[in-house]
Amino acid sequence: MKCRELAEFLFDYVSGDLPADRREHFEFHLNKCGNCHQYLVQYQMTIKAGKIACGDMSDELPGNIPEELVKAVLAARKV
Ligand SMILES: [Zn+2]
Repeated sequence: MKCRELAEFLFDYVSGDLPADRREHFEFHLNKCGNCHQYLVQYQMTIKAGKIACGDMSDELPGNIPEELVKAVLAARKV
């Protein structure tokens, strides 16, 4: 699996919808590729920041989201 393919499956992976065989490839790549691992971490933080931006406070607040990231999410939603 290449980095670009991994990005395509990121949403399914985070949602838990990725089939087991693909998830294996996905996690194999993640373990070897620091860039993609970092990308996944930022992606998950962006989702949390997005929920906060939507006023969905049902999730436990992580409390460690950089303000710049929240602003970036808010800015992206306007596009
Ligand atoms: Zn990669």
